[in-house]
Amino acid sequence: MQAEIIAVGSELLTPERVDTNSLWLTRQLNDLGVEVTQKSILGDNRDRLASAIRSAIDRSPIVILTGGLGPTEDDVTREATAQALLRRLLYSEDLMETLSARFARLGRKMSENNRRQAFLIEGARILPNPNGTAAGQWIDLPGRIVILLPGPPRELKPMFSDHCQPMLSEVIPQRSLATLVFRVAGMPESELDQLIAPIYTPYSNPETTILAKEGDIQIHLRATAETAAEAHAIASEVGGKIQEALGKRIYSSDGSPLEAALGALLKARGETLAVAESCTGGLLGGRVTSVAGSSEWFLGGFQVYGKAMKTRLLGLDEKLVEDNGVVSEAVACAMADSARDRTGATYALSVTGEAGPESASPGIEPGTVWIGMASAAGVSAKMFRFGGDRERVRSFAVQTALNLLRLSL
Ligand code: ATP
Repeated sequence: MQAEIIAVGSELLTPERVDTNSLWLTRQLNDLGVEVTQKSILGDNRDRLASAIRSAIDRSPIVILTGGLGPTEDDVTREATAQALLRRLLYSEDLMETLSARFARLGRKMSENNRRQAFLIEGARILPNPNGTAAGQWIDLPGRIVILLPGPPRELKPMFSDHCQPMLSEVIPQRSLATLVFRVAGMPESELDQLIAPIYTPYSNPETTILAKEGDIQIHLRATAETAAEAHAIASEVGGKIQEALGKRIYSSDGSPLEAALGALLKARGETLAVAESCTGGLLGGRVTSVAGSSEWFLGGFQVYGKAMKTRLLGLDEKLVEDNGVVSEAVACAMADSARDRTGATYALSVTGEAGPESASPGIEPGTVWIGMASAAGVSAKMFRFGGDRERVRSFAVQTALNLLRLSL
C-alpha cells in the first residue's frame, strides 16, 4: 500500500521552519507496512492546494495532509480539500459543541474565526483533537482515503496514534515488518557501498537505505512478509552477508551510537576513559556523557583550548609545546599521557588540531588533527586530514577518536 503526504503552510517554505511532521508520519506509515511515495510542501494558497490534492488522489490510495486547519483566513486545507473532492463543507453541531466546551473549560471567549473550525467536509469522519481546536478529518473515497491532520506536532502525533493508526490497520492488508540497523565507523560511504552494493542490490525485499553523516554510516534493512518470523528471516539473510563483508567496522547492530558501543565495551571490561581536548573544546566529553550511565566508565576530561592551559592544567612541558607546535604528535601524546596519569583512567584520548577555516599554526593545513591514545601499553598518536568546514572537522575528530579506542579494544 502506498501513501503520500502534503504538508501545508507558507511558513514551511521559508528558511525558518522545517516540515518534521512528514518525517514522523513516514515512520508511522512504514511501521504499518505503508510506503511513502511522495511528499510535497504547499503554501497557504487554496487553488494551488486543491490542484495538488486532486493529483495526489489520482496517484495514491492514502493521502495525508498536515496543517492549515486553524481558524484564520490563511488556513485553507478544509476549503481546498472540499474543492478538490467536489464536496460541500457542512456546519457540524458536534464540532461546535466540542469547540465551545473547550473554550469554556479554558475560561476563554471563542472568537468568531473559530466557527470556521466547526466545518466538516461532506461525509468526513471527525478525528478528535484533545490538544487543540483543529479537529482532524477522515474521508473515505472509493479505493482512497484522505486524512486531514493539524500542523502542530503535539496535536498531530496523538491524533494519528490514537485514531488513524487503528483505523488504517483495519484497511491495510496486514504485513509484518522486520528492521535491521547496522552502524559503521571509520570508512567513507563510497567505499562501503562498493563493498555491500553487490550484496543488497539484487533484493527489493528487504529494502536497503544508507544514511551517512560525518564518519558515521547507518545501513537500514526493512523486510516485509506475512509473518514476523518470515520478515525477520528475509532481513537476516541480507544482514548476515553485510555483517560478514564489513566485519568489525560495524560497531552496533541495534541502532545505538558509537559512544554507547564504546561505553558498553569499557563497562564489560571494567575499564575507564578520560579525555584531553583542544580543538574539539569538549565535544568528545559531550558525546561520551550523552550516554546514560557513562559515569561507570568515563572519569572526566580536560578542556585545554589555549596553549597556556595545556601546560597549566595538564602540566605539559612548555618547551615541548614550543618546539613541536600545538598541533603535533608530541603534544597529542603528552596530552593523552598526562590525562591518563592525572585521572587514573585505563585509557585516555587526546585531540589537538586545526579545525579551520584558517590555521593558527604555521605550515599546518586546516583540517589537520592529531589524535592521541594512552593505555598501559604506552602512548601513540595518529594524524588525520578531515575535509570540510569547522563543524565537520570537529565532528570527524570526535568520531575518529571514539572509533580508534573501540578498534583497539
Ligand atoms: P493551528 O490551529 O495551531 O493553527 P493548523 O493545523 O492550522 O493548527 P498550522 O497553522 O499550519 O496548523 O501550523 C501551526 C504550527 O505547527 C506551525 O507554526 C508550526 O510550528 C507547526 N507545524 C505546522 N506544520 C508542520 C510540519 N509539517 N512540521 C512541523 N511543524 C509543523
